[in-house]
Amino acid sequence: MRILITNDDGMNAPGLVALESAAQRLGAEVYVVAPEREQSAQSHAITIRHPVFAHRLPLTHGEAMRIAVSGTPCDCVRLAMIKLLKLKPDLVLSGINHGGNLGWNVFHSGTVSAAAEGHGFGVPAIAFSLANWTNNVEWGGLDALCAKLIKQLLAAKHSRPDWLYNVNLPPVPAEDVRGVRLTRQNPMVKGDNFIEREAPDGRSYYWPIWDDVQAAREAQTDPEIDTVAVREGYISVTPMRYEVSNMDEPGVEAAFKNFTA
Ligand code: MN
Repeated sequence: MRILITNDDGMNAPGLVALESAAQRLGAEVYVVAPEREQSAQSHAITIRHPVFAHRLPLTHGEAMRIAVSGTPCDCVRLAMIKLLKLKPDLVLSGINHGGNLGWNVFHSGTVSAAAEGHGFGVPAIAFSLANWTNNVEWGGLDALCAKLIKQLLAAKHSRPDWLYNVNLPPVPAEDVRGVRLTRQNPMVKGDNFIEREAPDGRSYYWPIWDDVQAAREAQTDPEIDTVAVREGYISVTPMRYEVSNMDEPGVEAAFKNFTA
């Protein structure tokens, strides 16, 4: 089995090493093609007005081939699929992101988007994130946990060959994880905000922050919502699809009934 691994925290992120180690536990041939520096929240961004550079790094983590790319997470997957890998991978893994990718954040996430890009190339893919934004992170043991999850997902019956999952690990040590829950994306708890400050030259600038939406989140108790699952110590596994058409919109057909161009 050939596994392509990428992330959005960059080539030096500890979460990437954990995922490499997970893939190696499965006995896979591992190819790491990841951004040379952090590209968090780049979503599906790709580079179009600049060249993209890729350089091979020495083998440091087992036998995985590691290539650092000057672009975004989606650049990494595209370049790997089209140019860098001789054969198509059997699976794309992205992460493990430092911080959860839950609810609306899924749309901003470079981690999830990179996995989705693999899915776009017809390859099954899993995005992994650790729902812990603090610097107090215990990465040890997560590789074994991820290897177990990957194995289960590979063995599952899927409706399509290019299946896609968003997996979020709860912010607890691996041995304290309570189990797995199949979840759906939190419909909407946004805490986006900006702090306005003054630059030395007198101009205003804005520092993005996320307000504490704990109260709003605590009001939600449905165990099948991604944020609730990780809050309660479970691994959240959300099956995803990239199909945004909404054919249930009731009024629009009538609106265009007598339209002539
Ligand atoms: Mn990130």
